[in-house]
Amino acid sequence: MDSAASKVITSVTIGPRSGGVRVSGTGNDAGEPRLGVLLGDGIGPEILPATVQIVDAALAAVHAAPVAWVPLPMGADAIRTHGSPLPAETTDALADLDGWLTGPVDGVAYPEPFRSRLNPSGALRKHFDLYANVRPARALPGGRALRPATDLVVVRENTEGFYADRNTVAGTGEFMPTPDVALAVGVFTRARIERIAVVACELARQRRRHVTIVHKANVLPLTMGLFRDVCREVASRYPDVEVDELHMDAATVHLLRRAGDFDVLVAENMFGDILSDLTGELAGSLGTAPSLNSSATHAMAQAAHGAAPDIAGRDVANPIAMMLSAGMLVEWLADRRDDDRLGAAADRLADAVYRVVGAGTCTPDLGGSASTREFTAAVVAELAAAPASWHPEPVPAERPSA
Ligand code: NAD
Repeated sequence: MDSAASKVITSVTIGPRSGGVRVSGTGNDAGEPRLGVLLGDGIGPEILPATVQIVDAALAAVHAAPVAWVPLPMGADAIRTHGSPLPAETTDALADLDGWLTGPVDGVAYPEPFRSRLNPSGALRKHFDLYANVRPARALPGGRALRPATDLVVVRENTEGFYADRNTVAGTGEFMPTPDVALAVGVFTRARIERIAVVACELARQRRRHVTIVHKANVLPLTMGLFRDVCREVASRYPDVEVDELHMDAATVHLLRRAGDFDVLVAENMFGDILSDLTGELAGSLGTAPSLNSSATHAMAQAAHGAAPDIAGRDVANPIAMMLSAGMLVEWLADRRDDDRLGAAADRLADAVYRVVGAGTCTPDLGGSASTREFTAAVVAELAAAPASWHPEPVPAERPSA
């Protein structure tokens, strides 16, 4: 097992509301949180500022120290201003921050040579070894969910598998020996499967104690077989966690039919990516599907969806996925710092989002008519007006010094 993971991850829980991952054991930080903001492309410049607003409002609601936001260049704008979609100054600065919010990237619209290279979001996951991509799907209220019983988490291995553009140290696992032949190499290693299986089992322990291994070992017995077998081995160390498995194709059918039966699903990189778009849609819409990419030391909040260029600039994008992703980051930070107030802020953030949707305000992808800005304003107002009964603990009268 990865030594950092085995040493540092002592618990991974998911909050009752936000679905945030907690990776505890390091708790070495203090002072105001410093979080990066990478706007990205497409709808990024709309949903990121909306998210910053509600994180600020959630922290204020529990009298927590405000975040110091650090804007950093990334995406098509950064190509124009810095000659790269992910300038070195961005990765250098992120290393010293408490975490960051990353907008979606529209890599397929970049000019060459950038279009053919690893996109900035994949590059960040690789650079910081953000191996755990945790993607919760909890049904939205008010009849907005396709499957209202959905309350599950997809745990996606984020560093190898069938995403050939990020599973090698140098170069890429995808190549063309002749113009008419293209090859892609999938990489599966015991150590990396073990560490993601640990995350899935620990997470299940904090939830309904059920892990489903999703694979395709029937046709890929070596690669997928290793993934399945190592997941089984790890799960055998968790006798209190029930484990079953599904082939990837069958998993889509079972999720559609009976999403409410699933708790934690663990999958390799590409399957996890595909599964979580499906589960996001079952819970409401892809625009509501959050995700946190984390290691024991770094965490990046990023919605599961892409840059949505078809709706960019129209003030109709759903900011929920990005908002809930930010809530997960705040929750991750809460556990790292052992700070209940940050944990309360994360809960309040997700609560406010669900309440606003439950009260009937939502963007067009959910069947509503609110703009991105109107929805955001409603969440901010909800956070400001939250009744005292929501406080998981008494809120101190004074704001602590940062
Ligand atoms: P997409 O997720 O951007 O869009 C798929 C569909 O979902 C579109 O109809 C879009 O309008 C809708 N949608 C997505 N997010 C929404 C939101 N917040 N609110 C309302 N509707 C939303 O997928 P795509 O069209 O395949 O990809 C577009 C670009 O995004 C591509 O360049 C792709 O590579 C990139 N992408 C980036 C990421 C990432 O940065 N993490 C993830 C997936 C795709």
